Amino acid sequence: MAKANTDYLKLPGSYLFSTIAKKVKEYALENPDATIIRLGIGDVTQPLAPKVIEALHSAVSEMGEKETFRGYAPDLGYEFLRSTIAEKDYKSRGCDIAADEIFVSDGAKCDCGNIQEIFSKDNTIAVCDPVYPVYVDSNVMAGRSGEYDPEAGCYKGIIYMPCTAENDFTPDLPGEVPDLIYLCFPNNPTGAVITKDKLQKWVDYANEHGSVILYDAAYEAYISQDDVPHSIYECDGAKACAIEFRSFSKTAGFTGLRLGFTVIPKELKLDGVSLHSLWARRHGTKYNGAPYIVQRAGEAVYSEEGRKQVLDQVAYYMENAKCIYDGLKECGYEVYGGVNAPYIWLRTPDNMSSWDFFDHLLKDANVVGTPGSGFGPGGEHYFRLTGFSSHENTAEAVNRIKKLHI
Ligand code: PLP
Repeated sequence: MAKANTDYLKLPGSYLFSTIAKKVKEYALENPDATIIRLGIGDVTQPLAPKVIEALHSAVSEMGEKETFRGYAPDLGYEFLRSTIAEKDYKSRGCDIAADEIFVSDGAKCDCGNIQEIFSKDNTIAVCDPVYPVYVDSNVMAGRSGEYDPEAGCYKGIIYMPCTAENDFTPDLPGEVPDLIYLCFPNNPTGAVITKDKLQKWVDYANEHGSVILYDAAYEAYISQDDVPHSIYECDGAKACAIEFRSFSKTAGFTGLRLGFTVIPKELKLDGVSLHSLWARRHGTKYNGAPYIVQRAGEAVYSEEGRKQVLDQVAYYMENAKCIYDGLKECGYEVYGGVNAPYIWLRTPDNMSSWDFFDHLLKDANVVGTPGSGFGPGGEHYFRLTGFSSHENTAEAVNRIKKLHI
């Protein structure tokens, strides 16, 4: 008799964002006159940059001509995009990453979720707490988590690394050495970044203990301060111990187009086994390549004009983040993030639970955010707001929150 993968049953009930959507829907039905402003889900709202649209049109036309039509894309990505990424994202920052160490995909979520397949099931994993839920859930599905402890809100077999105001939301090196370490900077949900010195300590730790760092840099484009590394490969020795994920979603508004990439240096080997070869094998077997037109659109992001246009979009969202950060600070909230990331992480007033604060904001200000506890036990008593709205809605939401405090 066939057996289902019952590890899936260890995942708690419903995904965070479907619970939020359900609550908002119910509230909207009961209060049809309420104008609800959503600062919850981290999806972009600005249209694609003109250079990206131009590249899409031109690639679509190529697909309509016999001479320029393309079928399956190379499963690791077109050379034109891989070499552009190597040049513009890495060589320009002094990182020695070659085009053939870059694997183009349809987004970082799939790559972060799938990467665990090239590691043994016995590996232990460590995640930040709070955390982007994909790292945890994908390992639960793969049977690497142990049992869920509903009281503690975490899995017994996963090492949770607390990220608190005391450590600037950057985890301390764990006493128990994990095999796989997930790090994400700039961070979702806290908006925190890590300094180069501190990241170097992680790289040294991983090299010393034979761990692999899975480094998610999906929000790299939002870094505004010096001394914040854009890539883990800016650290010495990172090519021997780190895999990096990047995405065009928040960099260039590609959440609906889908494009990302993963970097696996060739020198990253475990017991002589090349992770680059394993991921190439996996990619070749299970993936047939990101669409040609989307890869051409991705290439356009690196053109001089395209770069300027997408940086303007990032600046637009960051103005919103600043508006939220300043507004909340003014009315006495303890606020973090919002400087190198589009996320604002705030401590709930009067030690309210994250979900109670969610209900309060929805009912009393008609503003939707994300309860911090949805990102792990360390997120309890925190709340996430995002800069991915319009200036008008952001300003209105901040005004409504301010009015709650008059
Ligand atoms: N990594 C982090 C930390 C994210 O917050 C997100 C999206 O919200 C992703 C990855 C997913 O990116 P993509 O749209 O490329 O799948």
